[in-house]
Amino acid sequence: TFKIGVLGLQGAVREHVKALEASDTEVSVVKRVHELAGLDGLVIPGGESTTMRKLMDKYDLFDAIKEFAEDKPVFGTCAGLILMAKQIENQAGPHLALMDINVKRNAFGRQVASFEAELKVKHVADNFVGVFIRAPYISEVGPDVEVLSEYDGNIVACRQGNYLTAAFHPELTDDNRLHQYFVGMVKEKAEKVPV
Ligand code: GLN
Repeated sequence: TFKIGVLGLQGAVREHVKALEASDTEVSVVKRVHELAGLDGLVIPGGESTTMRKLMDKYDLFDAIKEFAEDKPVFGTCAGLILMAKQIENQAGPHLALMDINVKRNAFGRQVASFEAELKVKHVADNFVGVFIRAPYISEVGPDVEVLSEYDGNIVACRQGNYLTAAFHPELTDDNRLHQYFVGMVKEKAEKVPV
């Protein structure tokens, strides 16, 4: 089996663990650098991106995750997506800067801060319920990024090579299809024989 870690510093950790366990993988919670060893993939959950970044720095996980991501799949949801972006609107610098995307935080405004919407997610589902909680959206993508889902004309999920992101919270419903898609990415990568 394949081993996937869920970054457990803050946010919706347990829900991701459950969704992955239901998707035929071994799952562990990562709070320290040594816990990244032996993992085939990593999930960065939703929560609050600035807080999560501070905790990453505190536990020396920032560089360790960047290094891990050089050849392992990473799936970021909501705050996790913000942490993976190369550019964040109205913010000086990015965090992990893994994906060639520009994100806007709390992008759906105050009135509709949290809502659910049925989404088409390419390769995954035509009827995926997205739970948005003070969610970001992706305002620009580079040429190597595949857009997987849009809501109201805004990009809310995409993939770039080994990296997958969603602006919504796929771990908060019983629908595990997006997690299964990520598990598929992890398997594909782990089975590739190194040259
Ligand atoms: N608004 C949060 C941020 O900017 C993200 C919200 C979430 O992860 N649900 O980090």
